[in-house]
Amino acid sequence: MSFNCRQCGLCCRELLQKDMGIRRGLTLLPEEAKLFHETQVKPYLGYGKRPYEKGFKIHAYQLTLPSCPHLTDNKCTIYEKRPATCRQFPFSLDPDKEQVILLGVDMNCPAAVELVNNSSGLIDFPDRDSAMRIYELKKLVTVNPRRVWLYDLDSDKWVCYDKLG
Ligand code: SF4
Ligand code: SF4
Repeated sequence: MSFNCRQCGLCCRELLQKDMGIRRGLTLLPEEAKLFHETQVKPYLGYGKRPYEKGFKIHAYQLTLPSCPHLTDNKCTIYEKRPATCRQFPFSLDPDKEQVILLGVDMNCPAAVELVNNSSGLIDFPDRDSAMRIYELKKLVTVNPRRVWLYDLDSDKWVCYDKLG
């Protein structure tokens, strides 16, 4: 069965989430940050001993706005160039502790609910390549959580993944 987006725009309007005690926005790969004005973007995921020290590298950025500025009349005005996070939605690939790849489906999406409820068990995965790019970010956490830092939009500070609630 194929995913059939209803173009409700919900996934482009409720972008700020509180997760494990930190506020975060839409995840952007480094090359995607330039799709947004620099005042709308902050770092999201860094890897290293401590932020800003030698060897610390930013692997992802985040949009700081609750609604995407590229959404007009429930349509994406940069559709062909949209970020990998948007391309994979409502699906995701997640690593478990044994590095097995798990498929996630965001059930806040009405089309995903319809798909899962009516599927016989086989679902077309629309953009596996984009999901794999995001998966590689998540895998950093399973490799060494003490070296992973997430930037909290509420406190405007980096928080070590190992210290998250
Ligand atoms: S929430 Fe689901 S149905 Fe609505 S625009 Fe996003 S992907 Fe499409
Ligand atoms: S870039 Fe396009 S698909 Fe992604 S959140 Fe913005 S409007 Fe939605």
